[in-house]
Order: sequence, then C-alpha cells, then structure tokens
Amino acid sequence: MNKKTITEVISILREETRKFNTPIVTKLAKKDKDPFIILISTVISSRTKDETTRKVTEKLFKHVKTAKELATIDEEKLASLIFPAGFYRVKAKNLKRLGQELITRFNGNVPETIEELVSLPGVGRKTANLVLVEAFGKYGVCVDTHVHRISNRLGFVKTRTPLETEREIRKKLPKDLWKEYNKILVAFGQNICKPTNPRCDLCPVNKLCEKVGVRSKYLRGDRR
Ligand code: SF4
Repeated sequence: MNKKTITEVISILREETRKFNTPIVTKLAKKDKDPFIILISTVISSRTKDETTRKVTEKLFKHVKTAKELATIDEEKLASLIFPAGFYRVKAKNLKRLGQELITRFNGNVPETIEELVSLPGVGRKTANLVLVEAFGKYGVCVDTHVHRISNRLGFVKTRTPLETEREIRKKLPKDLWKEYNKILVAFGQNICKPTNPRCDLCPVNKLCEKVGVRSKYLRGDRR
C-alpha cells in the first residue's frame, strides 16, 4: 500500500474512532501530564483491560506519587494495590525495581530517550514509545497487539513481530501521523477490527483494506 493510501486510511479511521473511548493511557495522560504517572500507568496497562487499569491506577496513586515512594513501598502491598492487573506480582516486582533505578540512575526523574526507557525493569519498546509520545510529546511509534495486527491486515506492512512492524511503520508512515497512530488503531481494534471476527461489514476502510490473513463471519459485508 502506498503512502497516499495509508494517509487516506488513517484520516478515515481518525474520524471513525472519535466516537469510541480513548485508550486508557492517552486518557490518563490528558488528565495528568506527570511523566512518572504516565510511565507507571503504561506499565500496568500491559495485558490489562482499560477499565481495570483505570481502577488500579486510581488506587495506586493515592499511595504512591513519586519514584522514592515506589522504591520504598512493601512489594506485597504494591502487588495488592495493583491487583487484579494482569501479571500483578511480576509487575509489582518490576515496578519497585523501576522506582529504585529511577532514583539511582535518573535522580528520580523519568528519562526522555527510548534507549534509557527500555533499560528500565518491565519497560519494553511498546511502553517506551508510548511514554515518549504521551509524556514528552516526542515522536514514537507504539506497536501493541492491535497496531501489529491491523497494520498487517490492512497491508501497510508484512511483518511477523511488533518490532518489525515498528521499523516498517517508521519508514512508511508520514512522521506527522506517528503520535496518533497507536491511539487510532487501538480504539479501532477494540471496536471494529477485533482480533477474531473483525467487523468488516461495519468498516469504513473496507474498500481500501487488503484483508491479509483475515477470516471473519462478517467479511462479505460492506456498508459503503
Ligand atoms: S476491512 Fe476488516 S480486516 Fe480490514 S480494517 Fe476493516 S475490519 Fe479490519
């Protein structure tokens, strides 16, 4: 798919997804510009439903507001505060170490480069890119499961892993669309281009989509 068509698809999806809920980290970032809050929320949101992330972060940030408080909190208490987020015990361990590293290596602040962010416990490229975009307004391409799946279905990229997708999207997507790419595709993936049985019958980009590897009982429908 060429750049012009990709831009057209994103423009249609931007309009389409206005009516859907904003993904949780973007919503939290709008409310609270603190990079620490955004980083911790992003780590918790991995493999966790948006509604659970919302409830859990609300609870957590009543007790923990700084890297120092995170570094010194009892790990069991931290696990109980972030329960029932996915993998809450592993996350509690990583978050406590993350707090300690922010103190010892970054003077209690959240670093602003992708290399430094991915060097922190529990922080992968997906989280690092989202923090760059949402906390610092920098250019990043956050590829989560929705972005990887939909970019391939649409025919924007032909990749096997999220890392390959990130590399290809950085080459193919005009830079001015990078920051909103995740927000648009997550909302679209949660509501229409779902993991199983995507709603191709309701899809506003049905005619432009290459439907690579798509199987859906709604595949034949077309609302245009
Ligand atoms: S046509 Fe189907 S597979 Fe393609 S983007 Fe729309 S919902 Fe997803």
